[in-house]
Amino acid sequence: MRLLLVEDDVMIGESVLDLLRDEGYAVDWVKDGDMALTVLQSQAYDLILLDLGLPKCDGLSVLHALRARQDRTPVLVATARDAIAQRIEGLDAGADDYIVKPYDMGELLARIRALFRRAVGRAEPVYAHLGVSIDPATREVLVHGQPVLLSAREWAILQMLLVRPGHVLSRKQIEEKLYSWKDEVSSNAVEVHIHSLRKKLGVELIQNVRGVGYMIAKVEP
Ligand code: CA
Repeated sequence: MRLLLVEDDVMIGESVLDLLRDEGYAVDWVKDGDMALTVLQSQAYDLILLDLGLPKCDGLSVLHALRARQDRTPVLVATARDAIAQRIEGLDAGADDYIVKPYDMGELLARIRALFRRAVGRAEPVYAHLGVSIDPATREVLVHGQPVLLSAREWAILQMLLVRPGHVLSRKQIEEKLYSWKDEVSSNAVEVHIHSLRKKLGVELIQNVRGVGYMIAKVEP
């Protein structure tokens, strides 16, 4: 999952960035509203964490502009604890949820998971399919009831494929969700992770759709 963090406070930004990266999210960070709108024109994100008080173009204007150009990326707005009017304005401007500052990091992560569920059209908190289940809250992976240890990136790939069985993701799409601007990416990185996932989960689970990409089949192959 790739997130865009829009936050002008460097201390807050750094702590949120560290937290989200530790959780295995690919995160890009911009510090003003203009930059956010520019970046969002060329890069797709799974979620935007948007501070409302921003230089150049404030968060509400960013939100209005995004929704006006039909950008449906889920947006979690950050507001001060007592700023109820701002929260209402944010939600009515097209935000999907809000979080109050200072952040409770556990709550922030839970809200991100909830928005992701909604975005992929799922209601259940644990994703299970063809004998494999993953729990985004605990990062537990079970294969036919047995726990399996995955690296953060293997986990991220498994999640993006497992939430939409039958949906093919290209190598490029997977790569874009896996790495932020700052990451050095070798050209065969995705193939290497998929190879390792197959070793851990069984070779049949992740299918290679020749010339298109990868998917997990809807029904037992
Ligand atoms: Ca701010």
